[in-house]
Amino acid sequence: MTEHEARVALIEGCRSLNTLGINQGTSGNVSIRYGEIMLISPSAIPYDLLEPEMIAAMPITGEYGAWSGDLPPSSEWRVHLDILRSRFDVGAVVHSHPTFCTAFAIARKEIPAVHYMMAAFGGPTVRCAPYATFGTVELSAHALRALEGRNACLLANHGMIVCAATLSKAMWLAVELETLARQYWHSLLIGQPAILTKAEFAEAARAFGKYGLRDETTVPDLRQTGTQDPDDPAT
Ligand code: 13P
Ligand code: ZN
Repeated sequence: MTEHEARVALIEGCRSLNTLGINQGTSGNVSIRYGEIMLISPSAIPYDLLEPEMIAAMPITGEYGAWSGDLPPSSEWRVHLDILRSRFDVGAVVHSHPTFCTAFAIARKEIPAVHYMMAAFGGPTVRCAPYATFGTVELSAHALRALEGRNACLLANHGMIVCAATLSKAMWLAVELETLARQYWHSLLIGQPAILTKAEFAEAARAFGKYGLRDETTVPDLRQTGTQDPDDPAT
């Protein structure tokens, strides 16, 4: 992928956040790792107006905070950069303010293991990071702690962050997280939702190891043949 293609993909990601209904207005921001640089959406620009040259570039390991481009980077560049600097498994970070995730974040409640799809997030809870002002070093530190062993967290009174190896996987996680938050919300309205036990979650996570959106490079050849294991729920 050329840098121009990466910038175009990033803009498509930003726009689809809003069309998927998991963000609104100029809230949220998206970054991707492109070699030694982080490409990140600019601050406070409506996504429909974005052009490839408006995406800011920041060195990942060079001078902290340096940027180049037509417009300054998102106000949340610290948390994006800190995730890419500390998590070598991460190639893309998506931050947004989806309604149901944000409702739990306002209540400062984590999302427990209410569904086997929670296995997509690396553990039995999606934690809620303590409150800090948007764009600050404190917010970044809180988010990094809440993301330990996970690829998603809520941000108190703010929104959520997901990260993944690729942008398409991060977008997939963003939709799944908001869906889980919505489902959990509705189950709370019915009352007394059951949370998966440790053993149930561990079993789901084991089966889930083989499931999930395939990265482009691992999409199987459709002409493959094989035999499904009747005793393995992941096949
Ligand atoms: P930016 O427009 O600066 O990316 O900020 C949006 C946001 O969600 C801040 O938390
Ligand atoms: Zn935000």
